[in-house]
Amino acid sequence: MRLDKLLSNMGYGSRKEVKQLLKMKAVTVDGVVEKDVSKHVDPVEQNVSVLGERVHYQEFIYLMMHKPPGVISATEDLHDQTVIDLLEPFHAHFEPFPVGRLDKDTEGLLLITNDGTLTHNLLSPKKHVPKVYYAKIDGEVTTEDIEAFSKGVMLEDGYMTKPGELVILNAGPTSEIELTISEGKFHQVKRMFESVGKKVTYLKRLSMGALQLDEELALGEYRELTEEELNSLK
Ligand code: URA
Repeated sequence: MRLDKLLSNMGYGSRKEVKQLLKMKAVTVDGVVEKDVSKHVDPVEQNVSVLGERVHYQEFIYLMMHKPPGVISATEDLHDQTVIDLLEPFHAHFEPFPVGRLDKDTEGLLLITNDGTLTHNLLSPKKHVPKVYYAKIDGEVTTEDIEAFSKGVMLEDGYMTKPGELVILNAGPTSEIELTISEGKFHQVKRMFESVGKKVTYLKRLSMGALQLDEELALGEYRELTEEELNSLK
């Protein structure tokens, strides 16, 4: 990997700024001052240091975001802001993407990474990764709905969902529920409620597999996963 790319990706500034660092003799490779920006280095095997501090190379990035409403979970969009637009340049450098999609109006846990293997494993229908959602429902959610969801419900396009675990937190003209599903069909939670004649008015994802939304994160905030959180997903 080119030295300027490595240093720029690891947050040492733009390519131009990195060039300045090298010019100032601030960069060493295996203890020898390096001034050539195009020098190819092996960031794992070789010791690349800036002002005497070793550069810790990181190939992958894993971010947990508390997705706000009004933002699209995609890498780019012609009209709306995307979750990637909310990232600091240092994190955006890694060219990460959201793991699965949340609707524009849905809030909550969104994992953002550039690790394609982990993404594949989390999204693969074969892995049955459970996702827990909190929702407010216009209408009274009943034990019949729990029963129906536990067997799977038929969506309007004829698709029969896998069983879902519905827990009623509060029943009334507006109900509050938690629903655990292991699939990720388009608008799945909203469509499951539509199939029993009810409307989701607010939706928030609380967890994905073992990964739980850090409630300390305000809407739109994000942080890197801890090592423990990352291991729990693998
Ligand atoms: N189900 C939905 O209906 N919307 C989401 O954003 C996620 C799950």
